[in-house]
Amino acid sequence: MPDNLHTLAHSHHPLGVECPCGRRALVDGKVLGAHDGNMTELDHLPLKCSVCGSRPKVVRLFYSQADVDAFMGAPVGRVAF
Ligand SMILES: [Zn+2]
Repeated sequence: MPDNLHTLAHSHHPLGVECPCGRRALVDGKVLGAHDGNMTELDHLPLKCSVCGSRPKVVRLFYSQADVDAFMGAPVGRVAF
């Protein structure tokens, strides 16, 4: 089963997205409507880069803060995508 907003809600971490322009960001699941039973697939989220307007090419779930830090390259503040 593809990852979906239900999975995101249970990961207890933000969603990681990466744009073709190279921008990476973390998106809070609450902003995306992630909750128990929401089976909307992550690939179908209406995400759009606020810098270049493209769809993110990478959408990632995290299960630890170390995974988040590795994705972002360094500990950073959470930003809205
Ligand atoms: Zn972009």
